[in-house]
Amino acid sequence: MAKPSRLPVVHELLGRVYTDTEWEALCNRCGACCYESRWTDTGWEDTGVPCEYLDAESKLCGAYGKRFDVEPDCIRVTASVVLSGILPPECSYHDELARITEEDQEIYERREQRKGGRRRTPR
Ligand code: SF4
Ligand code: SF4
Repeated sequence: MAKPSRLPVVHELLGRVYTDTEWEALCNRCGACCYESRWTDTGWEDTGVPCEYLDAESKLCGAYGKRFDVEPDCIRVTASVVLSGILPPECSYHDELARITEEDQEIYERREQRKGGRRRTPR
């Protein structure tokens, strides 16, 4: 896998832009994404094999600052990665995606109510 770019990453999920600090803070440090997965007919499957840099007790990466140098298969968690569905179910970035989707739905419904419930159905 190619090394991820060192250029600054703009973290944007469904129109929300996050600073690096805000984006990192969304991670619950569960370590679940640090296991090897492989693509199958039914989607991504966790092999249960941890990355050699994952500390089994703390669930933290033992090489975080240089992870892309030492582990070529380590990928940066970006908004595209969250939307791709590759992250494991326990990943808290899914919760953020669900939260903003719900928030957007509420904003949309309130706007529709103000308009009197009329709408055009997208075709
Ligand atoms: S190198 Fe990457 S995959 Fe391996 S433990 Fe660190 S963050 Fe996880
Ligand atoms: S699975 Fe998600 S929440 Fe857990 S360590 Fe990986 S990026 Fe963070």
